[in-house]
Amino acid sequence: MSFENPNLSLSAHVASLNARFENTDTVEMLREIILDPSFGELALVSSFGADSVVLLDMVAKINRALPVIFMDTEMLFHQTLTYQRKLAKDLGLEDVRRIQPSREAVLERDFDNLMHRYDTNACCALRKTEPLKRALAGFGGWISGRKRYQGGARTSMDLFELDAEQRIKINPLAHWSRDDLADYIATHKLPRHPLAAKGFKSIGCAPCTTPVGTVEDERAGRWRGQGKTECGIHFGEVARTVIVTDDGFANDDWVDDFHTFDALPTVETGTLAVDLKGDFPAKNLLQWIDKIDMIRVDFPVFSDGRGFSLACQLRLLGYVGRLRAKGHIVADQYAMARRSGFDEVEIDQALARRQPEPFWQARAKWQANDYQNHLRKAPSQAERPF
Ligand code: SF4
Repeated sequence: MSFENPNLSLSAHVASLNARFENTDTVEMLREIILDPSFGELALVSSFGADSVVLLDMVAKINRALPVIFMDTEMLFHQTLTYQRKLAKDLGLEDVRRIQPSREAVLERDFDNLMHRYDTNACCALRKTEPLKRALAGFGGWISGRKRYQGGARTSMDLFELDAEQRIKINPLAHWSRDDLADYIATHKLPRHPLAAKGFKSIGCAPCTTPVGTVEDERAGRWRGQGKTECGIHFGEVARTVIVTDDGFANDDWVDDFHTFDALPTVETGTLAVDLKGDFPAKNLLQWIDKIDMIRVDFPVFSDGRGFSLACQLRLLGYVGRLRAKGHIVADQYAMARRSGFDEVEIDQALARRQPEPFWQARAKWQANDYQNHLRKAPSQAERPF
C-alpha cells in the first residue's frame, strides 16, 4: 500500500498528515507511522552524523528491522565509518543499507576524486542525490532527521512533505531544538559522534566540513564560504518540476528534450519540443507549426506579459500541440495563462511548496475554456494572421 489516500490529492493528504500529527509526541508519531502498514514501506535515511543517534535510537526501539539507508559518499571522515558500525551494532539495527555512488559514474565524472574542489553541486549529485534516488526506489516514504533550528530552507519545513519524486518525506524532529537533542542523548546515554567534541556540529563529507565557532550557525561549517547550504537531496536542487493543470498538480510527464528554435532538427525525429522566450516572433515558427508537439514559453520575470501574447499568437497561427508556460509565473496568473491558450504551467518544487495546490486550483476555476477552445481550433490558411 502506498501513503496516498485515494480520496485526497497527494498535497492534500500531506496537509492532513501534518494536521493529524501536529501535537503528537515524536516517538508516538514515529511508532504510529512505522507500525501502520497503510503508510507503505518506509526507510530511515541517516548520515550517522552529529545528532543522528537520536532518530536511530527511536527507530531501533520501535522496529530494528526498519531499513536504514546510510549514504557513504566515499568522502566521509573515517570516524563516521567507525561510528556507523559501532552504532548499528549497539542499537541492534538489522537492516543498514550502505549505499555508494555508481563506480562507472565516478570513473567517468570524478576519476581523480577532486570534483568537490570545482563543482560541489555536481559532486553532491554524483555521490549523494543519485545514489539516494536509486536506494529509495520502491519505498513509499522516508524519514529524515532535519530540524528547523538548523536554519536556511529548513526553517519552514513541515513534519510531512513531498520530495522531488512525490514521495512522502517525514521530518519527525522538525520542531526539536538543540537542547531537546542534547537532553535526549543524555537521558538515554547515547554515544556521540567522535567529532562532535571537536566542534563539528553538522558532519558531512571530510573535504566539505569544518568545525564551527560557538556563535556560528550549526551548518556554517558545511561548504564553508561557498554559499551552498544543502547537498540537494532535500530540496530538489537537482531540478524537479511540477505541472499545474486544471486537475491540480501532476508529475512532469514530458520526457523528450527541448530544443531552442535555432537548434530545431532539420529532419523529422519523432516527437519535437521547443523552448521559446516570451518575445519570440510567432510568425518565425510558421513553417514548424504543424510539426511541433510541445512548446514551452519562458516568462523571464513576473511582470513580463509577452508570453501570454505569444501563446495567443501561436494558437491563432493554428498551433494545436501542447503549450506550456514556465519561469516567473504564479498562481494568480494561471487563469490568464489558460485564457491565452496555455495547457499547463511548469513550476519547480520550491514554488509548489510556497503556493500549494489549493492556490492553483482556485485559479483554475476562473479558466475561460470556451475562449481557449476557440483559439485552439486550427484556422484556415486565409484566417491566419501572417
Ligand atoms: S559534500 Fe563535498 S565531497 Fe561530499 S558529495 Fe558534496 S561536494 Fe562531494
